[in-house]
Amino acid sequence: MTMDSDVDDSRGKSFPFRLRLHGSAASSGIAIGRAVVIAPPHARLLNWRTVASDERPREIERYRTARAQLLASIRASLSSARLVEDARAIIESYELIATDPTIEDAVETGILRDGMPAEVAVSTTYAAHIRAIAESSDPFLRERRFELENMRQKLVTILLSLFTPVGELEGRIIVAPSLLASDVVHYHSRGVAGFVTEIGGITSHACIVARSLEIPAVIGIRNATTIIANDVLLIVDGSRGNVLVEPDEQTIEHYRQLQFEYRQHRRAADDTLATTLDGKTIPIYASVDSPDDVPLALSYGADGVGLVRTEMLLVRLQHFPNEEEQYRWYRAIAERAYPKPVTLRVFDVGSDKILHGMPHEANPALGLRGLRFMLHRKDIFRTQLRAILRASELRNVRLLVPMVTAIEELSATIELIEYVKSELRAERAPFDEHLPFGIMIETPAAALLAEHLAQHVNFFSVGTNDLTQYTLAADRTSDLVAHIFDQLNPAVLQLLVHVATVARRQEIEVELCGDLATFLAATELLIGIGIGAFSVAPSYIPALKERIGSIHTERARSLVARALGCSDSVAVRALLRDSTLTNGEQHTQP
Ligand code: PEP
Ligand code: MG
Repeated sequence: MTMDSDVDDSRGKSFPFRLRLHGSAASSGIAIGRAVVIAPPHARLLNWRTVASDERPREIERYRTARAQLLASIRASLSSARLVEDARAIIESYELIATDPTIEDAVETGILRDGMPAEVAVSTTYAAHIRAIAESSDPFLRERRFELENMRQKLVTILLSLFTPVGELEGRIIVAPSLLASDVVHYHSRGVAGFVTEIGGITSHACIVARSLEIPAVIGIRNATTIIANDVLLIVDGSRGNVLVEPDEQTIEHYRQLQFEYRQHRRAADDTLATTLDGKTIPIYASVDSPDDVPLALSYGADGVGLVRTEMLLVRLQHFPNEEEQYRWYRAIAERAYPKPVTLRVFDVGSDKILHGMPHEANPALGLRGLRFMLHRKDIFRTQLRAILRASELRNVRLLVPMVTAIEELSATIELIEYVKSELRAERAPFDEHLPFGIMIETPAAALLAEHLAQHVNFFSVGTNDLTQYTLAADRTSDLVAHIFDQLNPAVLQLLVHVATVARRQEIEVELCGDLATFLAATELLIGIGIGAFSVAPSYIPALKERIGSIHTERARSLVARALGCSDSVAVRALLRDSTLTNGEQHTQP
């Protein structure tokens, strides 16, 4: 968590407010409202006396009554109409924790044998379980400790009769040490606008439910319940992980505008997977350049992030950042998109993205670019791989390498990945052991060697911008050869068909992240070729999803056969125009 008193928002403006608290962006959107602070029962409220033997049965009764009350409140939240299936299963799992026989036995033994008061027995039993799972190497299991902690606090609160009714909750923001998924449902049904918690992880059940109910939430603000006073005005920016305390009028106005825009996008966005007429689902990912782009991408209905051009971090900083800086940046992207997948592409420097200190070359696009540079500077590559692997802890990260031309490059990369994994294992740093690994297909060599390359990777991502540049020997940045640089050239299409055929045979995914993905007139052809997912700039997502909904894969396949018979891109364009017109749709010009 960080604190400061001024902020640069995503548009670079600066606004005054008393305090900005920074935590983790747990559920997107913006909430503006007054705080309702829910204070936890403090350990020192517990009365550590020994209960006399004849009073112990009464303590057992107190414990059982409190547990029944907790169960009743959990069950009440299950009746919420808007609860999605996942959330229902999560809340049902609380019943299992609250009635877990090992916990129950330990609490009752604490009371009967050791003479603990009920609240002390509950507190110590839950604390022992929390300690045990906090030491687990599995991040998802570790996450469950927040739920146990929350149950502990709830039971103790009930036993000590500390619960104070919080009054009118409509439009207010709950500030609590932590929340259970059932609390989120309960507060949602009472019109709560947002949540701020001190602990909890992005993968916690409460966050999953907040996201499914679309309630903005920021978590991980240590001491939030002591820093934030009841009734103060808060802005919760759940997209960026900020909480503004006592903002002034100008700030509120600005965030109201952001809130309006966010809601507009949400309304236009289609969150369901794009599906062809014959039922094939096609994920549509967003291509982004920074963590700040992720909320916007999600608001447009992105199914994840298909391409993060990490070199944009270098372009911005003008130097290679250290591991920690990179880790924070990658982690922020993974958290903001969670649980949706995020594809981090290693630095694609060289060509038109030259940094100070890089070797001067006469033809940089044909020189030490992308993976070639990274293998030339293994120190930089290792640092980036460490940061990416560490950010993969949430298991929604995929690794992608650009500018591949040879199998040896792949072997050297895999060797380095394995080396970094063994380093992290030795340090006991958590990461995803099964981090999916993919390569960009953006050189004719990679396309033609697809059969061999496919054996070492989990997915292909076709970069048609570079594939076109290198296939047609036409500089993608030059106006003079812009008429030659044509992504619909049959030579490019033939390579695409070959790559997709290999991918299908070898059962790996093939996605497309070049600009060709945004040419709606080409979508049918690309689906026919066998492209299984697309990554585009966020604003293209709604239209692309809609376009896919009008395509039938059988018909699309027949289009491919005809496109392969074309001798130039003029003929391909004419074919696409005819196809879209006979399909009764408006033509969109590539
Ligand atoms: C591409 O080459 O098509 C691609 C997506 O990568 P970039 O545009 O970053 O080179
Ligand atoms: Mg490229």
